[in-house]
Amino acid sequence: MTQVEIAGITGLSPATVSNMVKELDTAGALELAPSIRNGRRAVMVSLATGNTLLAGIAFGDRDVRVALGTGPRDIVGRQRMPLPADHAADEGMDRAVRLLLDLVEKAGKTMRDVRAVGVGIPAPVDRVSGQVGSESILPGWRGVAVADEMHGRLNAPVAVDNTANLAALGELRCGVLQGIQHGVYIKLSYGVGAGLILDGEVFRGAAGTAGEIGHLTIDENGPVCRCGNRGCLETYIGARGLLDALAGSHGPLSLRDVITRALDGDPGCRRVLEDAGRHLGVAVAGLVNLVNPEVIVLGGQLAKVGSIITRPMRASLERCAIPSAAASVSVRHSELDTDADVVGALVAAAALLPATESVLAAASSIS
Ligand SMILES: [Zn+2]
Repeated sequence: MTQVEIAGITGLSPATVSNMVKELDTAGALELAPSIRNGRRAVMVSLATGNTLLAGIAFGDRDVRVALGTGPRDIVGRQRMPLPADHAADEGMDRAVRLLLDLVEKAGKTMRDVRAVGVGIPAPVDRVSGQVGSESILPGWRGVAVADEMHGRLNAPVAVDNTANLAALGELRCGVLQGIQHGVYIKLSYGVGAGLILDGEVFRGAAGTAGEIGHLTIDENGPVCRCGNRGCLETYIGARGLLDALAGSHGPLSLRDVITRALDGDPGCRRVLEDAGRHLGVAVAGLVNLVNPEVIVLGGQLAKVGSIITRPMRASLERCAIPSAAASVSVRHSELDTDADVVGALVAAAALLPATESVLAAASSIS
């Protein structure tokens, strides 16, 4: 757009915009071209398309997904590979690196063009040590310093965070949480996690474990969870709990089977997911009372069942939360679908770039 249009949209003065354009042009970050606007001569300002590539990697409990892009909104290639449950960290990281090398090659580039990498892990990541900070949530990754390990393999700066935090970041910059000050992203998949946006930023807490909604106690006397606690939300709505509840009546199913059958109207599968929605609503009510978010975004595989989960969730939320807090929160579906964490990983990677390059990458996330 033109400098006048940039000033209009940002609310900055034309002089400030002019100075910034000059500065960025000197740094080689912009392309300027003569144009006509409203019959007057103007200069079109656009981003210089450089060779900068970013990589986003999101590990799941059962797979790893990798995206390569020039920015969070400009993904040039993506790949996914299944991972065995309880896989070792080395195996997961090696597979991710192979997928990334393959994408880089297909894009006609080399790893030297990949300037930064964002990595998501489906477990708490200790902010101080950078290690996967849970004894039992992702056992094969316990104590692994992922950023150092990945840096050793890729020779590029690496940012590591919990996948739910990254998904929240992805939605904040490029999805349904854009412009929201206080929001929550909840990932419903094999496990359950949440990323909190407070005051327009991802909130990680003292050690980086904020948002572990899956391990919120729903029933002190409930079944023992993989984290060692009893009656965690995840024991009710995580894949293991859901599949166990159906094993007697339906035999062995995958999570995807349950989702498909529920959407096809299977009463048992629907019932189990409705109960999951009810339990989720109780936990979300606690979150709504504590944080008072404007928006709750549901993402991950299970969110695909839509109202089968959201209707009972909303009912529990209204029953258990402070009425004014429950009334003011809107529940939405992820715009980025299962890509939210990978997009967030690209946003985190962009933040590692030196200032000029990050302007290019970040600008690709301004709509
Ligand atoms: Zn737990």
